[in-house]
Amino acid sequence: MTGADKFQKIVAWAKRKGFIYPSSEIYGGIGGVYDFGPYGVELLRNIKNLWWGRFVSGRDDVVGIDSSVLMNRKVWQASGHEKGFSDPLVECKKCHQRFRADIVDEVIARASSGEEKSDWENFSEEEKAILRCPKGDKHELTQAKQFNLMFKTSVGSTENSDSYTYFRPETAQGMFVNFKNVLETSRQKLPFGIAQIGKCFRNEITTGEYLFRVREFEIAEIEYFVKPGKDEEWFEYWLKEWKQFLLDLGISEKNLVEHEHPKSELSHYSKRTVDYNYKFPFGEKELTGLANRTDFDLKSHAKASGKDLQYFDQETGKKIYPYVVEPTLGIGRLVLALICESYEEIKGGRSKAETETEKEVIMHFNSKIAPVKIAVFPLTKKLKSSAKTIYRNLKKEFGFVEYDETGSVGRRYRRQDEIGTPYCITYDFDSENDKKVTVRNRDTMKQDRIKIAELKKYFGDKF
Ligand code: ATP
Repeated sequence: MTGADKFQKIVAWAKRKGFIYPSSEIYGGIGGVYDFGPYGVELLRNIKNLWWGRFVSGRDDVVGIDSSVLMNRKVWQASGHEKGFSDPLVECKKCHQRFRADIVDEVIARASSGEEKSDWENFSEEEKAILRCPKGDKHELTQAKQFNLMFKTSVGSTENSDSYTYFRPETAQGMFVNFKNVLETSRQKLPFGIAQIGKCFRNEITTGEYLFRVREFEIAEIEYFVKPGKDEEWFEYWLKEWKQFLLDLGISEKNLVEHEHPKSELSHYSKRTVDYNYKFPFGEKELTGLANRTDFDLKSHAKASGKDLQYFDQETGKKIYPYVVEPTLGIGRLVLALICESYEEIKGGRSKAETETEKEVIMHFNSKIAPVKIAVFPLTKKLKSSAKTIYRNLKKEFGFVEYDETGSVGRRYRRQDEIGTPYCITYDFDSENDKKVTVRNRDTMKQDRIKIAELKKYFGDKF
């Protein structure tokens, strides 16, 4: 199966099984926006909860916030977003690099003029990037658009040039502008982090790679404030932590690629940027990134707002602007990577009961992120009362547990495999006497006979 075939199947599976739907589909949809269905939302929440538990509530040196999507427009002026995003842009349909249309025109004109044509050395690295596409040959450029990647909206009842702001394109600024508030109310000392998970909006020029590049998405990120001079070692620390989180969730090491940004490609605020790319079925692309933002943001906001955003270092008795190490993660991209990672299709099915079908899909989600943890089946409807009691007890304990009494047990297994349920329990006629049930493991298909009274202990901390 080619990457493109696999990807098409994944998109169809996600809709069929209630994970991901195109937004406003009955009206023909809206480009680059998706909704999470009943199973998708559980997967999403499990991932966010694990992230929060690990990086916020599980640590002493990180506190969370939930800052608003709408902020004073001055935030975006000070951060450089308003200016930086408002040029006429063209975007390459193949590699998604965006360029200022005026610069493209100028560079292309120079490259085709007799004088410079043959001399590649006359072009800077940025200009060379305009002339060649990393995906092969020349860029395939969209029409130029006066393009502000931020969604503009007006605030209040009168609409004029002073009444508008933007939907945030990143969560980071909400943490920088709250730096002083958090410092005063949480009494944290350097090094410490502010974390949040929140919706961001970018009016992307090109979409079409499903959840990978959308116009509304969630970012989970930490602004980790450190003493200047300690930033490089903390960068290494977060690089390891970030990777370990991805691995623990079920991303396999072979599909992760560390990408160090060359100095010439760093953003204006960054001293060092490293991405973890993921080998998606449609190519290797950025999943998550880490940037050393230095003291750029705090200084910019201090200058623009006139407020003192420095940290008083009790050890030296001096005020300093902390440096910031920023690990950032697009939750939707991670969901997509985990779906790609977990998807397996087997022709003919795995067990006798399943041979009647052409293929079986098994989602090998890690138990901690699987939307449904356990499914409970009575062997026949006659046994439903006892099976339902087990189901209700487990649901109280473990949350998302399903009950299913329709069709053969083989079919019921298959339905659960398709949504990645790690364990299925069958209550049969023997259960009436021995007070045991069969617990079947999704991946090994091994069946254990477990006492009903010991089920909670058996599942323990698997979820
Ligand atoms: P790209 O180069 O792919 O456009 P970026 O470098 O602009 O991404 P950042 O500004 O670093 O991305 O955003 C932080 C994270 O948010 C990224 O690592 C990615 O996981 C996610 N992200 C960014 N843009 C999008 C988008 N349009 N759709 C989904 N996730 C996104």
